[in-house]
Amino acid sequence: MQDILNTITTEIYRQDDWGQVAQYIPELTSVDPRQFAISVCLADGQTFSAGAADKPFSIQSVSKVFTLVATLGRVGDQLWSRVGREPSGTSFDSVILLEREQGRPRNPFVNAGAIVTTDALLSGRVPKLALAEVLGLIRQMASSDEIYINDAVAASEQATGSRNAAIAHYLKSHGNLQNAPDLTLGTYFHQCAIEMTTTQLAMAGRSLAGLKHAPRVISQQHARRVNALMMTCGHYDGSGDFAFQVGLPGKSGVGGGILIIAPNVASIGIWSPGLNGYGNSHAGTRAASMLTKAVNWSVF
Ligand code: GLU
Repeated sequence: MQDILNTITTEIYRQDDWGQVAQYIPELTSVDPRQFAISVCLADGQTFSAGAADKPFSIQSVSKVFTLVATLGRVGDQLWSRVGREPSGTSFDSVILLEREQGRPRNPFVNAGAIVTTDALLSGRVPKLALAEVLGLIRQMASSDEIYINDAVAASEQATGSRNAAIAHYLKSHGNLQNAPDLTLGTYFHQCAIEMTTTQLAMAGRSLAGLKHAPRVISQQHARRVNALMMTCGHYDGSGDFAFQVGLPGKSGVGGGILIIAPNVASIGIWSPGLNGYGNSHAGTRAASMLTKAVNWSVF
């Protein structure tokens, strides 16, 4: 495995096109796109890494997976009365389907659906408690206490997050937001500003992959469902292409991270901050495709 990851890393560093870092969160615009890391946890408990695997990055929408795990644990299937389970075919921050579907977001991984999921987790508590729950869950899943929220990134997104604020208010107008929009949004921006390394991310995916040594934080049925949503909705309007190229459930974030689950086989964390046209990591998607081809892990 180490040889495979080294070869992929060498190949990635040879490329000229790294994509462009996210431009709409000021704090993320200064990140150098020419960075790459990959980590893989195997079923036998071994972890392999190559590249900048110990460098923390902003997980952004990858956090939506962990919030979903926490919320399913808290409210169970009731969540589906407020959020759908269908791919959207639209960008991560799209508002267009919300009006047609009367304030019920298409899935928990587009921003609107994640804001509703965070709202369900918050359920009348102060944001600090909900954030402590998500952070505590991630630390447990990753078997690492060295995972923190970057307050500067959260503040930076809060200051420029008019589109997410519009989404939250629109949800509220349809009765699909229980808390005050500012409280839910503040929680959402802070959850997105969590930083992790690829090693921690791969470790955190072990429970979803159902690996033997993983902390038991999620039932097998919920894990299957989260994985199904990652496969169909985890890369926004690039989800079909990711399934085509990689053949595994994955969730991307605009910080350039991708969490990929090979059920019963492995959990993979990849990071490269330059994005492709869908807002997913450019080099990260390439690396994921090289890895699944090399080890034959596609579920198809
Ligand atoms: N915090 C980002 C937003 O809400 C997350 C988007 C993403 O990572 O895809 O716009």
